[in-house]
Amino acid sequence: MSTTTPRATQRSLQSLLFKRFGMAVATYALALLLFWVAVLNDLFTGGWPGAILFSALLVGTQLVFLALFRSNFNLRFRDPSLTEAQILVALLLHTLLLANLDSARGSLLLFYVIILLFGVFQLQPRVFVRCAAFAFFAFASLNLWEGYHLRLADPGLALLQCCALFVALVWQSLFASYVQALRQRMRQRRYALQAHQDTLRGMMRQLEDLVATDELTGLFNRRHFLRLALRELDNLGPGRQHGLALIDLDYFKRINDVHGHAAGDRVLQTFAAVARACVRDGDVLARYGGEEFVLLLPHADADRLTSCCERLREAFAAAEPVGVQVASLSLSAGMTLLNPGDDLDEALQRADQALYRAKRGGRNRCDAAWESSGA
Ligand code: GH3
Ligand code: MG
Ligand code: MG
Repeated sequence: MSTTTPRATQRSLQSLLFKRFGMAVATYALALLLFWVAVLNDLFTGGWPGAILFSALLVGTQLVFLALFRSNFNLRFRDPSLTEAQILVALLLHTLLLANLDSARGSLLLFYVIILLFGVFQLQPRVFVRCAAFAFFAFASLNLWEGYHLRLADPGLALLQCCALFVALVWQSLFASYVQALRQRMRQRRYALQAHQDTLRGMMRQLEDLVATDELTGLFNRRHFLRLALRELDNLGPGRQHGLALIDLDYFKRINDVHGHAAGDRVLQTFAAVARACVRDGDVLARYGGEEFVLLLPHADADRLTSCCERLREAFAAAEPVGVQVASLSLSAGMTLLNPGDDLDEALQRADQALYRAKRGGRNRCDAAWESSGA
């Protein structure tokens, strides 16, 4: 599950857009430098006032965009990067510049292509073609206007420039749509991969559950119990104890013999349901094997363990397995405590000895072996 808030997403989007805007501004700075090279070499026909006015216009438009980004106003648009608007403004400024450049016009023609490069990865093919068409018609209109006013120094050269620009823009539009198709395919593949990963994760979880669960009772199995118990023992802090109990159903073989194996299974399931209701969240209950179960009560003392086992014993005695008419149900439990530094196998052996004593003592009872060799 993703933990990013819409605010955080918006912040990271804005910072990305700022970076892109920074790139555009850096390109403008370079273009401005080139512009002043042209001005200083008398290639700009607008004169000094025109050059200053043009520079101010350029800086002004970028300040407007900066204000839009800083105020988050850009987020109100369908494309918050405002790429199309930025490109159109740049194309207009560039055409205005070219209108005031005569002999240097051809050298700076490639800036149409550079400006449009900003849209190759960002704009939908339809929008990109719109921008490219705008670039072409702006330049063609400029030449037509000058031709109409008989101000074209070399109409043949102007025609060649228009054709060259047309070819470059067509090629760039095709390239942009190819890039967009590629991005779309990659996005689809990423989604498909994510879906596969989710499925695999789900299957892994199912497998983990299957590996950890006893099929008949739905309780943890012995292997998983041992893993959890070792972890709990490792995490046991000084002066703390865990309660451990081995529980064995009394005369279970007789139930099987008298009522059948299926009835025996139902009694095992009844025990699991009763025991689940008797323990708390965090307590670990597992089927240890056959009709034997094991219980770990984290951070429990002898009193809590004893009362839990007694409660369980009484609840099981009062249980009525569906469809099985047993005269009486009972269990015996062997209890011990786990101390820091204890060995789990030894503790289980202690519990087993206590269980043996409970059986020898007449069954339907809980016995304990509290002593441990732990620290
Ligand atoms: P005690 O009071 O001494 O524990 O006697 P008991 O009859 O409960 O113990 P015993 O070990 O003699 O018998 C256990 C029986 O549990 C034998 C076995 O067939 C049966 N059993 C083990 N697993 C299952 C199971 O999954 N389903 C059923 N129905 N019976 C099982
Ligand atoms: Mg038994
Ligand atoms: Mg047994």
